[in-house]
Amino acid sequence: MKRINILGSTGSIGTQTLEIVRDNPDLKVMALSAGSNIEKLEAQIREFKPVLAAVWSEENASALRTKVADLPVRIVSGMDGLIEIAEMEEYDVLVTAIVGMIGIRPTIAAIKNHKNIALANKETLVTAGHIIMPLAKEMNVSILPVDSEHSAIFQSLQGNPGNRLEKILLTASGGPFRGKKREELAGMTVEDALKHPNWSMGKKITIDSSTLVNKGLEVMEAKWLFNCDLDKIQVVVQPQSIIHSMVQYVDGGIMAQLGMPDMKLPIQYALFYPDRRPMDTKRVDFFKLGQITFEEPDIEVFEGLKLAYTAAKGGGSLPTVFNAANEKAVAMFLDRRISFLEIYDIIRACMENHKIIQSPNVDEILSSEREAYDFIASKWGV
Ligand code: NAD
Ligand code: MG
Repeated sequence: MKRINILGSTGSIGTQTLEIVRDNPDLKVMALSAGSNIEKLEAQIREFKPVLAAVWSEENASALRTKVADLPVRIVSGMDGLIEIAEMEEYDVLVTAIVGMIGIRPTIAAIKNHKNIALANKETLVTAGHIIMPLAKEMNVSILPVDSEHSAIFQSLQGNPGNRLEKILLTASGGPFRGKKREELAGMTVEDALKHPNWSMGKKITIDSSTLVNKGLEVMEAKWLFNCDLDKIQVVVQPQSIIHSMVQYVDGGIMAQLGMPDMKLPIQYALFYPDRRPMDTKRVDFFKLGQITFEEPDIEVFEGLKLAYTAAKGGGSLPTVFNAANEKAVAMFLDRRISFLEIYDIIRACMENHKIIQSPNVDEILSSEREAYDFIASKWGV
């Protein structure tokens, strides 16, 4: 029996993780958490019977307590609630399916609690990878990638010592606006940006895919997960999303992981690694597919990737500012307060305004986040 706790159980990754639990009776959910969707969380609590559940506001926690008063589950709230889930004794793996930098503290708490991490929450590694990876090593804890590209890289590395790696070929679909010119991007709406060609995901990451910020975050995520220099990570656009990423070895040989675009495979692989379990999902039909094509990313138009490389090279607290500015800008875009291209303007302005702190601790990461938010408020009035 493997016991799992999920941060962000009502989201896209969270609900797909629970589908896997449904199909595998030797998985047991011990704790769940959600931002504010207490109706969905209540249904999950009734079905999966965790002993602990968290929501963000105390008001929602109190409402949920009333709803599930007939069940032996404790309801907690806020950051303390997320940390309590991470610090529980009776579980094996923490699935970080929460979105944003809010995942940093609970992830660190879980590692200190000697729990393995199935990591979807890339923002945590991008901003605090320099804290998380050494801590995981010290605590002898595994950080198992859930992100499809990183799972593909991880799968392609099986059986090959990492020091024989020449480069990582990180694939990208190119998002809904692939091939567009900068002038065309200017008028793109929230609805346009939410139409991802291949993947069905949460709103924030879907917008990040349309700006290529997601790929930029993934470059940094790969750097930390695989201890790889930035110049050894190459982004390759592969519009059909069949090759989920590749690694090239020193002899020129390339290993890739292919499959239909479906997050359940990487989630399940992380949960059962090193085992593979049967999964009843769509298979690739190469004759129907016909071709797999490749392109170079256009980083002048999709500035999100270019800014990410600048952030990654600057290091220290700059990736935090990149990420925080993006989190805020995406929320503003989804609220229709700014245009599509202003997402880039906001990230760029925040990065230019920031004085880098080398090796920031968690408080400094969070103060860099706050600084970016204050700067956006002063310039954009939100
Ligand atoms: P989502 O928006 O669908 O879900 C986010 C979850 O986090 C929800 O359950 C939400 O309730 C919870 N949450 C948000 N704020 C919270 C708070 N303050 N306290 C507690 N819970 C809170 O997002 P998603 O698409 O599932 O993405 C989750 C993470 O996984 C992100 O970091 C994303 O980049 C990464 N990821 C997602 C996919 C995908 O296919 N969806 C693929 C790769 C990586
Ligand atoms: Mg991905």
